[in-house]
Amino acid sequence: MIKLTIKTSIANISGIGQVYKRRLEHLGIKNVQDLLFYFPRRWDDLSKISKISEIKIGDFVTVKGKIQDIKGTFIFKRRHIIEAMVGDETGSVRVIWYNQPYLLDSIFKGDEVILSGKIAKPKSKLALQSPALEKVFPGKELVHMGRIVPVYPEIRGLSSRWLRYKIKSLSSLFKDIKDYLPEAIKESQKVISLSDAITQVHFPENFKKLEEAKKRLAFDELFLMQLSWLQKKQAWEEGEALKIPFDQNLAKKFVSSLPYKLTDAQKKSAWEILRDLEKIKPMNRLLEGDVGSGKTIVAALAILMVQKSGKQSAYMAPTEILAQQHFKTLSETLEKFGVKISLILGSTKTQSKKQIYKKLKQGEIDLIIGTHALIQEKVDFKNLALAIVDEQHRFGVKQRALLRAKGSVNGKFIPHLLTMTATPIPRTLSLSIYGDLDLSMIDEMPKNRQKIITKIIKPGKRDETYEFIRKEAREGKQTFIICPLIDESDKLEVKAAKTEQQRLAKEVFPDLRVGLVHGRMKAEQKERVMNLFQNKKLDILVATTVIEVGIDVPQASVMVVEGAERFGLAQLHQLRGRVGRASHQSYCFLFTEKAGGKAVTRLNALAELSNGFKLAEKDLEIRGPGEVFGRLQHGYLNLKMADLFDTVLIKQAREGASDILRNDSALKNHQELKRELQRFQTIYHLE
Ligand code: ADP
Ligand code: MG
Repeated sequence: MIKLTIKTSIANISGIGQVYKRRLEHLGIKNVQDLLFYFPRRWDDLSKISKISEIKIGDFVTVKGKIQDIKGTFIFKRRHIIEAMVGDETGSVRVIWYNQPYLLDSIFKGDEVILSGKIAKPKSKLALQSPALEKVFPGKELVHMGRIVPVYPEIRGLSSRWLRYKIKSLSSLFKDIKDYLPEAIKESQKVISLSDAITQVHFPENFKKLEEAKKRLAFDELFLMQLSWLQKKQAWEEGEALKIPFDQNLAKKFVSSLPYKLTDAQKKSAWEILRDLEKIKPMNRLLEGDVGSGKTIVAALAILMVQKSGKQSAYMAPTEILAQQHFKTLSETLEKFGVKISLILGSTKTQSKKQIYKKLKQGEIDLIIGTHALIQEKVDFKNLALAIVDEQHRFGVKQRALLRAKGSVNGKFIPHLLTMTATPIPRTLSLSIYGDLDLSMIDEMPKNRQKIITKIIKPGKRDETYEFIRKEAREGKQTFIICPLIDESDKLEVKAAKTEQQRLAKEVFPDLRVGLVHGRMKAEQKERVMNLFQNKKLDILVATTVIEVGIDVPQASVMVVEGAERFGLAQLHQLRGRVGRASHQSYCFLFTEKAGGKAVTRLNALAELSNGFKLAEKDLEIRGPGEVFGRLQHGYLNLKMADLFDTVLIKQAREGASDILRNDSALKNHQELKRELQRFQTIYHLE
């Protein structure tokens, strides 16, 4: 027989044949160590043993005693029943098992057993019904009962009992688990050793020890997560960026050129960005701010500073419509300061593109705005110092990397990177989700905004709402009507949107101008419709969710969402943010077909709250991080032991990780830790 070690393949553990091997491998368990790191989902307290004389009907009890009598019989329709009597020093109780005749081969009169189950009263006689059972042998520790019992995640074909039994049989190896956590950290964090933690998490002596074990294992996950983030951050910061000096006079001039006052949050964010730009260390900052909170103008100030020092900026947006809008607003605000701006789109004519490439290379363009067209091979800058990515979640890692590569002046520099998002993540979660970035938050709206009145509209109230829209239109205000999400295909969605537009134009609003924009239109077509709407040539715009991202139509005052129950909270909030961009009162009407349960809670939350950060917290509360951020495909949301809302432990883990890396950035003196980090990263697929 092979001598078992931590690294032994599961195939060599006695009692694991092909079938179980496959089932375990399905869970990513290949060797002994993997199995020991397969943690229970919960723990049942079966440690309290009841006296038989004290048990009552309905109780769930654990009793310990001797089998005084046992016999099996077949009854009606080949059903098999085992009846036994079990007694302790206080009395005895009848026990019944249905259809488990094989038990007769393993328990016999005189055996000492421990039983857990429910007391019922079948056929008027009190009995312990189909209890779980474990035989007691002198000097042998109990595994399944009479203790705090681990319950593993239920997987078909792998019972908790089986796992418990197997893991217990490996318990002599627990002490061989190498502790990769540096001593200093264990001491400062007051966590127990890894082998103790593994022992106690599977077979806790008591709840206090279980808690200590859970804390250690949770700490490890958070620590490894933060190590990963900080290493990523370090790798970014190894590059060198162009220094952009801060010109206070210019900043003041710019701010006073605006038709409004910046909010405090805008000022603070701008300040943080400008401070970063002054350094040789490349910035990697995420600007988070609700829809309409005014991120663009913050970016504009940074662009101006870059231009002043004779360097270039690039501004990348996910859609052509958005890029065009940015081009318009940034031209309005920056051209008067001498910033030379160009726009490049996929649809830009080849001849014009060539012109742009040439000017960029020669430094005749200070700011280039565009879509993905920006990161194409042929685009080459003279001295790109700042790259801005709007709606960052719409771009992949690769695209950001390409943009980064554009910075090199003779291969030397990388650009400062400013990413922006309107998906607010509560601060509590940001260290786990954006742990490699520095964060700036715009968490207040411009003062001139009124709270958007949000109402849930039941089917019977449609006509009233349409009447209201007509009234708004007479005052020159416009309405968006968003068609429901249809999962099957966007073809169906487009069809539904077309039908709805025709219905509204013919039957409901023959007196108004009703336009349509959807995801399958060509870019120019979309743009034409959007321009009509922006120039007040349309009163109502029927749309699929293509308008979700960023478009600014200040005179729009009503947002109608059809089938609102099908949208997530964040998406609804984004849609609502399309209106209320000027000082007049705006409205959001949520049409529902049938909303129940969570959907109602969600819609009510939207009606009640207007702050995106608060809504994000609410959404997390209602749906949990897995569902809310599932779209982000974030492995760290699936950590086994850690609680991502445990901000205290997350902070500690980050501090610990940062301490280690400060002295040993490549983990040269921490080989065990380095290996564990690699293992962790493959499990959680860090991008
Ligand atoms: P987002 O953060 O969604 O990108 P934008 O930058 O598009 O928001 O700004 C939304 C609107 O708010 C724009 O019309 C902009 O001119 C305006 N705006 C920005 N900052 C302020 C402010 N401090 N006061 C008033 N209006 C502002
Ligand atoms: Mg924006």
